[in-house]
Amino acid sequence: MAIATMHGKEQVIGPLLAAAWGLRAIVPAGLNTDVLGTFTRDVARPGDALATARLKAEAALALTGGAIAVASEGSFGPHPDLPWAAVNRELVVLIDRQRGIELVGEALSWETNYRQTQVRTWEEAQAFAAAVGFPDHGLVVGEAKGVRDRETLAQAVQAGLAQSGILWLETDMRAMHNPSRMQVIAQATQDLVAKGRSLCPVCGWPGFAITERWPGLPCALCGLPTPLVRSQRWVCRHCGYQQEEPVAETVADPAYCPLCNP
Ligand SMILES: [Zn+2]
Ligand SMILES: [Zn+2]
Repeated sequence: MAIATMHGKEQVIGPLLAAAWGLRAIVPAGLNTDVLGTFTRDVARPGDALATARLKAEAALALTGGAIAVASEGSFGPHPDLPWAAVNRELVVLIDRQRGIELVGEALSWETNYRQTQVRTWEEAQAFAAAVGFPDHGLVVGEAKGVRDRETLAQAVQAGLAQSGILWLETDMRAMHNPSRMQVIAQATQDLVAKGRSLCPVCGWPGFAITERWPGLPCALCGLPTPLVRSQRWVCRHCGYQQEEPVAETVADPAYCPLCNP
């Protein structure tokens, strides 16, 4: 399989897919995934995360002439329900062109150091660096990306502050500079493997997965519908077979009830 990455993601994706299906990873030379969007906003993405990951995988297939390609795409931002907390969402796509298989693994994690700040002093820069796990995690300091040691940090901060007195600092979210993110990419790859092993009960095709969830699991105390999932829909994208299934639990913990625990 070709892994479409410039940022060392094969280190986590490769071994997991090798163990699951015996796939051997190659990273195509000459692939520039940065043209499909960067985290530092120099280049905007062409579409949503899944569309972008598909484009990367297809670019790798075109370059290698192979049958199987894997690509991943990450995003960072406020959690939809808790806007003060940052989350990292990762998506890993496997395309097998010969067999017509597409598998999509996903993971969502609070374990991210995604942050930006403005500093006016070296002390403020040091405090930010310490808070975001530097130097195990890289920093973007003004124009300097992938800053991983104190000396480079000190130079970049001094140069930036000398120029304008105020400097923009952010965490470098590229996978090879961000071990927290590598962990979430590993989780998304594990989800991809689980989906690949989930077979359609009708046609046996891999990737039989949940595509929709409905909230409304009744409260154990008062019976009112809660925001917890009540049932989910499984879909086979090969033959179109669908199955709606209630979750294993029949009632929700009253802690989630809008009436009992407002
Ligand atoms: Zn209740
Ligand atoms: Zn099927």
